[in-house]
Amino acid sequence: MLLLLSACTVWHPPLSGLMLEPAVPMTWDDVFAHPVESVTLDSVVSGRWVAQSKGLINLDHPDAVAAGLKNRDFPIALTVHVIDHPRKGRWIVDTGVAVDEDGDLANIQGLLGSVLSNTEILTPLDEILGEAPLNGVLLTHKHVDHVMGMGDVKKGTPIVGGPGEWGQKGAENALLRKGYKRLLKGHDVRELRLEDAVEIGEFKTWDLHGDGSVWVLYTPGHTPGSLSFVVNNGSPTLLVGDSSHTWWGWDNGVEPGGYTEDSELNRASLHALRRLAEAHDMRVEVGHEEHFSITEPQSPGSAE
Ligand SMILES: [Zn+2]
Repeated sequence: MLLLLSACTVWHPPLSGLMLEPAVPMTWDDVFAHPVESVTLDSVVSGRWVAQSKGLINLDHPDAVAAGLKNRDFPIALTVHVIDHPRKGRWIVDTGVAVDEDGDLANIQGLLGSVLSNTEILTPLDEILGEAPLNGVLLTHKHVDHVMGMGDVKKGTPIVGGPGEWGQKGAENALLRKGYKRLLKGHDVRELRLEDAVEIGEFKTWDLHGDGSVWVLYTPGHTPGSLSFVVNNGSPTLLVGDSSHTWWGWDNGVEPGGYTEDSELNRASLHALRRLAEAHDMRVEVGHEEHFSITEPQSPGSAE
């Protein structure tokens, strides 16, 4: 973890390829045979947005067409996943929302104003974190709805994204650059490096704490550096991120729609994640719907 403290802009994970040599598990079976049971995961809905189902689900996919899905407003959850480790402390996945002293969204000027006005604030990140020190932030990716809680993250806390995530220069990013700049000003943004990843099964992956408790999976497609996460604590959970925003997309293996940058790559990542979850009977959290939806599936195409 020492390297996390260095000033370089590229983040080196605690285990290099060399150090991994004797202990690196070669299969996910090996990983799950050695859980770290004292690690806990808590998923909290910080806020809500209204999105469009054509952004969340590829409605042109034959399965979506066959299911009769049509575009409509689709409420989404902005979730923060809190991972506590007895020695490595508290890390979070994504940041939810942050509020200023008036209870309004903090530091979001320039970030998709009209969309942000639809944000419902439930539990600001500050409240989720409480008094416990925050040791690091993992970002599934850098889209606005995942970084807008950054105002509640103390400067100097490592903010870790996937390979290539921050170097991207798309049109959207030109528009949003100012907003992002404001949001991330003074923050310690790092990027994982592919050459430091190990390959397990179908994934390039990083062992966050060096003890096999939290695995960062490279799942590009939604964005170039999209990440998913495995929490290996005896009842393993897969945090899918926006490789699938919805349960319908997850259950049917249909990638997101317009919100995704590379559909084919996203689909490949999604299918690999589904194979991993199925093979190991994992608990799954998709990007923007809560867990209870598993038993009460929403039909994104249904009439209002
Ligand atoms: Zn998102």
